[in-house]
Amino acid sequence: MAFASPRGAIRRTSQRPFRFSYPEGMGVASKPLFAFEDTYARELVGLYEPWRAATAPEPRLLTLNEPLAAELGLDPGALRTPEGVAVLVGNQAPEGSTPLAQAYAGHQFGGYSPRLGDGRALLLGELVDAEGRRRDVHLKGSGRTPFARGADGKAAVGPMLREHVVSEAMHALGIPTTRALAVVATGERVARETLLPGAVLARVAASHLRVGTFQYAAAQGDPELLRRLADYAIDRHHPAARDAEAPYLALYEAVVEAQAALLARWMLVGFVHGVMNTDNMTISGETIDYGPCAFLDAYDTGAVFSSIDHGGRYAYGNQPLIAQWNLARFAETLLPLLDDDADAAIAAATEVLTSFPARFDAHWNPGMQAKLGLSGDAEDDRPLMVDLLALMQTQRVDYTAALRALSAAVRGDSAPTRSLFADPAPFDAWAERWTAELAAQGRDPHAVADAMDRSNPLYIPRNHLVEEALAAATAGDLEPLHTLLDVLARPFDERPGLEAYAEGPPADFGPYRTFCGT
Ligand code: AMP
Ligand code: MG
Repeated sequence: MAFASPRGAIRRTSQRPFRFSYPEGMGVASKPLFAFEDTYARELVGLYEPWRAATAPEPRLLTLNEPLAAELGLDPGALRTPEGVAVLVGNQAPEGSTPLAQAYAGHQFGGYSPRLGDGRALLLGELVDAEGRRRDVHLKGSGRTPFARGADGKAAVGPMLREHVVSEAMHALGIPTTRALAVVATGERVARETLLPGAVLARVAASHLRVGTFQYAAAQGDPELLRRLADYAIDRHHPAARDAEAPYLALYEAVVEAQAALLARWMLVGFVHGVMNTDNMTISGETIDYGPCAFLDAYDTGAVFSSIDHGGRYAYGNQPLIAQWNLARFAETLLPLLDDDADAAIAAATEVLTSFPARFDAHWNPGMQAKLGLSGDAEDDRPLMVDLLALMQTQRVDYTAALRALSAAVRGDSAPTRSLFADPAPFDAWAERWTAELAAQGRDPHAVADAMDRSNPLYIPRNHLVEEALAAATAGDLEPLHTLLDVLARPFDERPGLEAYAEGPPADFGPYRTFCGT
């Protein structure tokens, strides 16, 4: 494939990684920018289409994640040059890169689509990071591909910045997630309900293998392809499975475990993914595809933010169940690898699948105990945990604010939490039991309160703040967005001057609706 190579900008050299060449005397050493590898392209023929990005007429860098760039061994200064931006927006494919659109199938809202795939995205290649981890670099919004069906292949600035903000917030909260390397405005308008500025998101992931990738492979009727995919997933994400007695069952178990851990983290932090289709569930256990996602303000297990989720299938409280449903679909793809006898294969997979709720609890219980400063037996502490949530549900209390305020109560001031309950009496009764339990557990209250503050974030991507920052950015003012990114990068550390970022939404905000596929 021939790629345009403007003189003095990017040069293609055979056998060598992509290099910038600076004019003589600039004092900058010529240094490879990307050293892409292409294991997916080489090992998984049949699961992608080689493709290239559409040309962005007037690329402009909106965000660059410098710490992530450094982690990947990339030079942030070089990424900011026109040549770097050209790579980040898809105008230039660097040496070593085999851009491709990945194939996948998926259940969307329960209905099966045999061919979804990257309709508007490309995998540029893989980088091995500073810690030796292989990471995908992927572009989203880079134009139509053979999987685009009727759609335009584009993305608007707002949703791509949204993915940047929310995925980086999740990362700072310690939740496994794809990361945002950069958002580049294309200089083009994309037609949505109105004409909006277009953008490309450069995304980094442990991989883009999805449950839907396995569904696609399984549907090809080629057992060798499915086995190759499973072996690739084992090598890349769950290498311990390779040495297990039954490697493919061990792969399944590792994914079930990774997803149980992930879902517990989502629930603990009040995250609603919004579109948990099987094509949006990773094999790595990372959160992926931030579309109509949102964080809870008021605690409500029925919370739905997505404008298209009419039945509430992906409501906050349904998420663990849906994850388990998706994992059942994943098991179905693996059956031929598990046992020649179909009944034996189903029995083995079912045993693992039914362990999901216990695995979820094994992550959720200690997580919620830490939030409440509890350190006893999880079963003993559980009534306190669920009773508090029930109270919050009844009174629609702000989830993040209430949990964070509890440390003040441990330090002797229960007013901040009480003020969040319209009727504080039931909270007082709960707090009496809680205080007694804390006393019985006998730890130093200041140490307990400090530890709670490291488990209960103060700053989350509040819906009203995200919307405000995106609206400003779409209109050309990036300052609120950069401030928000800075606030969310350290979610647990209280910082003076940031009080407004810790508050719930203004009374006139909402009901909040998010839009997907935009
Ligand atoms: P998502 O809802 O973002 O997970 O996407 C679901 C499917 O629709 C995937 O196959 C996407 O690649 C595809 N898709 C979403 N938006 C677009 C678009 N604007 N152009 C082409 N394909 C799209
Ligand atoms: Mg998706």
